[in-house]
Amino acid sequence: MKKQQNILIIGAGLCGSLLALRLGQRGFNINLYEMRPDLRKVDISAGRSINLALSDRGLKAMRLAGVEEQVKELCIPMNGRLLHDLEGNTVLAPYSGREHEFINSISRGDLNALLLNEAEKHQNVNIHFNKKCKSVDFENTTALFEDYETKENFVEDADIIFATDGAGSALRKSYFLGKKFLFSFSQDWLTHGYKELSILPAKNGGYQTYKNALHIWGRDSFMLIALPNLDGSFTVTLFLSFDDGDYNFGNLNTPEKVLEFFEKYFKDALELLPNLVDDFFTNPTSPLGTVKCSPWHYKGNTLLMGDAAHAIVPFYGQGMNASFEDVVVFDKALEEGEPNSEAGWEAIFKAYEKNRKMDTDAIADLAIDNFHEMKGHVNNAIFREKRNLEMAFEKNFPDDYSSKYSLVTFNEDIGYREAMLRGRAQDKAILNMLADRELNIDADLKTNLEKVNRATEEILEDDHVAKNFKH
Ligand code: FAD
Repeated sequence: MKKQQNILIIGAGLCGSLLALRLGQRGFNINLYEMRPDLRKVDISAGRSINLALSDRGLKAMRLAGVEEQVKELCIPMNGRLLHDLEGNTVLAPYSGREHEFINSISRGDLNALLLNEAEKHQNVNIHFNKKCKSVDFENTTALFEDYETKENFVEDADIIFATDGAGSALRKSYFLGKKFLFSFSQDWLTHGYKELSILPAKNGGYQTYKNALHIWGRDSFMLIALPNLDGSFTVTLFLSFDDGDYNFGNLNTPEKVLEFFEKYFKDALELLPNLVDDFFTNPTSPLGTVKCSPWHYKGNTLLMGDAAHAIVPFYGQGMNASFEDVVVFDKALEEGEPNSEAGWEAIFKAYEKNRKMDTDAIADLAIDNFHEMKGHVNNAIFREKRNLEMAFEKNFPDDYSSKYSLVTFNEDIGYREAMLRGRAQDKAILNMLADRELNIDADLKTNLEKVNRATEEILEDDHVAKNFKH
C-alpha cells in the first residue's frame, strides 16, 4: 500500500498556513510552498486587501488550531456599519441586536504571520518561500515549481497535494487543462473593481474617525468603505464600475477628476484623505469575481481548498472566514475517515466536498446579494425599517430570532446554505408585511415576531414543496 503521509500544500496564504498548522498538529509531514517572499521578513503587501473582517466562523477555526486568544489580540471590534450620507451625516447601524455579536477588523499580514509562526513551531512542517507552482500532475501526485531565487524548475513528489493557492490556482488550471475527467468551472467577473486608499492615524496616534465600526459611504452604483487598523489608520476601499456611469475607473484619469468625484460624493471622507491623489494613481485597480468549480478533488490525490475552490466577492466579509471554515469541515471529515490509504483519502475528500460545496455555493450567492444591499439598500427607508425591527427582535428575544446577517456571520453552528434559506425567507416575510402594513414597529413586538416567524415557516415550506415538485 502506498504511504500517504507526505503532504504538499501549495500557497501559504490564510487558508494554506492554517491548513499546514492543523495537519502539522495531526502529525503529518508537511511541505508548504509559497511563491512570494516570507512576509514576516520582507515588507510586501500581504496581497489583496490590507485588512479584513474576521467573524465567528473564522474564529471557530482559530479555536480548533488553539490560536483564538492570540488572534483576538490583533482584532479591532466593529459593532456596526457607520453610514455616511452625502452631507456627511452619520448613523450607526449595529450588526446585531445582541451586544456580544460584532465583527473584527484584522490585518491580513499580521494574521498570516501568526499562522505561519504557529505552523513552523511543528518540526514536521517545513515552509518554502519564493517557489511558484507552475502545474500539478494530479495522476502522479507531483508538482512542478519555479524557484524565483535560482530561476530553476524542480518537481516535488508527495502522497497528497492540497492547493490553497487562491483564486488563480495552479492545480485548478491543471484540472481544467488536463481534460482527464469532467471538470466544471465558472468564473464570473463583477462590473465593479476596487482600489485601496488610506486614512492616516491622527497626529496624536489615535483615530481620525470613529474606530469601532465599518464605515460605509453607499452611493447606489458605487461605494466607499473603511476598516480600522491597530496603528490608528484606516484602510479605505473604493468599489466602482470599470466603465459605466458618470464616474468610473476608466474616466477618473486626472487628479482633478478624482478630487471632483470625491468632493461630490464623499466630502467628509475627502477631509481625511490628504494622500488621495497619490494613493489613487499609485495603488492598483483590481477586479472582483466569483469562482465555482467541481469536483474539487482528483481521486485521493489532490484537493482544492479556500479561494482556489470557491473565490467570492468580498461584500459579506466571508471569503477568508469560509476558507478557514473549510479547514474545520475538512478536519471533521479527516477525523471520521481513514487517512492511511489512497481509498481512505478519496473517501475523506468525497465526504468533505459533499458536505461543503452547497455551503460555499450559498455564500458566493449571498455575497453578490450583499453587494447591492451595501451600495444602496442600506440607505433605503423600508430596508432601514426592516433592520430596526430585526434589531429589536434580536435584542428583546435573543433566543427566538436571528437576522440573515446574524445567521451568516454569528451562527457558526449552521451552514451557509441553511443561513441563506432561512435568512431569505425571513427577508421576504418582513418586506412583504411591511409593504402591506401588516407589521408596525411600534406595536407589540412579540406579536410582530410571531407573525414574522409564522410567515417565514410558510415561505420555507412553499419553497420546499416547489423545489421537490416533479413534472
Ligand atoms: P489567498 O489569500 O489568495 O492565498 C493564496 C496564497 O497562495 C498567496 O499567499 C499566494 O501568494 C499563494 N500562491 C498563489 N499562486 C501560487 C502558486 N502558483 N504557487 C505558490 N503559491 C501561490 N474575506 C473575509 O472573510 N473578510 C473580509 O473582510 C474580506 N475582505 C476582502 C476584501 C477584498 C478587497 C478582497 C479581494 C477579498 C476579501 N476577502 C475577505 C476574501 C479573502 O481575501 C479571501 O477569501 C482569502 O484571502 C482566501 O484565502 P486563501 O488562502 O484561500 O487565498
